[in-house]
Amino acid sequence: MSLIDSHCHLDRLALEKIGTDLDGVIALAQENGVNQLLCVSINLENFPEVLRISHCYDNVFSSVGVHPSDDGKEPSVALLVRLANDPKIIAIGETGLDYCYNKGDLEWQRERFRVHIRAAHETGKPLIIHTRDAEADTLAIMREEGADKIGGVMHCFTGSLAMAQQCLDLGFYISLSGIVTFKNADELRQVAKMIPENRMLIETDAPYLTPVPKRGKPNHPALVKHIAEHIAEQRKVPFEQIATATTANFHRLFGTMPAP
Ligand SMILES: [Zn+2]
Ligand SMILES: [Zn+2]
Repeated sequence: MSLIDSHCHLDRLALEKIGTDLDGVIALAQENGVNQLLCVSINLENFPEVLRISHCYDNVFSSVGVHPSDDGKEPSVALLVRLANDPKIIAIGETGLDYCYNKGDLEWQRERFRVHIRAAHETGKPLIIHTRDAEADTLAIMREEGADKIGGVMHCFTGSLAMAQQCLDLGFYISLSGIVTFKNADELRQVAKMIPENRMLIETDAPYLTPVPKRGKPNHPALVKHIAEHIAEQRKVPFEQIATATTANFHRLFGTMPAP
């Protein structure tokens, strides 16, 4: 049995609260069957640290990108393409639109999203898309920029059933975070039941969004097993089936190999 945390921020974990260092976090993940992890970049300032972490551990991959709400250095297509030129970097992102966190004229955010999709086309590496309160614009830009030709994942999905269906129609995978375990997440549990088994990923998005039953404690990759357990319960299938499917889906999407 093997699990993959398809989206975490290892450079931002609350290590003192978890009570160990990064070696300990990775070991704890492996003790819980989480054998591979994708450490996701959210800005250019911390990208060297994200890349360094992925080079320290055989089972950690990384991405390059600037989060839609980050206010650091603005990326260009050429810069993203250059930075993505490393075997440990398997994706472009996280990118997308966030109309929940940012307000006002967000043309800059839409332009940043387009830049990432163009970099994904040039590198052939799939997209990690973050979207909040921006379903129509996210889909419109994905279509205009031909994101369906490169593919990727809608990370920490919290959208509607209709949004999920349209993302699936564009060939994207859907990743579920600890939010699916929250009490008030009934619509998301419907999404968790309808995603085809071969298009689903799981993620902690650690250090954010600790899943039930660990609410109030710091999040870290080992806890992705609780998300898989919850989805298995919802879909009335064995836990191992969700673990096997989400692991195979990760390797198919990102072109990676299982841990030896
Ligand atoms: Zn995100
Ligand atoms: Zn994230």
